[in-house]
Amino acid sequence: MDKDDIRVQLIRQFPAEVVEQKGSMDKMYYSCPTCGRMVSLGMDKCGGCSQILSWKSINQKESPNGKRKAKLEFEVSEEFTVGDCRKCPISYIDTNGSQSAYECPLKMRGACRIVLS
Ligand SMILES: [Zn+2]
Repeated sequence: MDKDDIRVQLIRQFPAEVVEQKGSMDKMYYSCPTCGRMVSLGMDKCGGCSQILSWKSINQKESPNGKRKAKLEFEVSEEFTVGDCRKCPISYIDTNGSQSAYECPLKMRGACRIVLS
């Protein structure tokens, strides 16, 4: 399995916000954030790629710059501190020749934005 596959599979386990689009006659359409297939309102999993779907922020207004926040929730151990990829449950080990390093599936390595609650 190549590392992109691993990354994609990891991300699919976590709920991702569906994408909301306005169609003709102001009808709303929803699509999977991972593969772009249309999903019906309230579906919990994409039938195409198995992405777990979240509908939590769908009723929030868009911010002025058109960007919305995505949020992942998962449990970390007590010893975890922000930026500590070794103790992060979503990191994976990427081997490049003889070197291996902890990699972040969200590409936040060195710029971890995890918020502990
Ligand atoms: Zn999908």
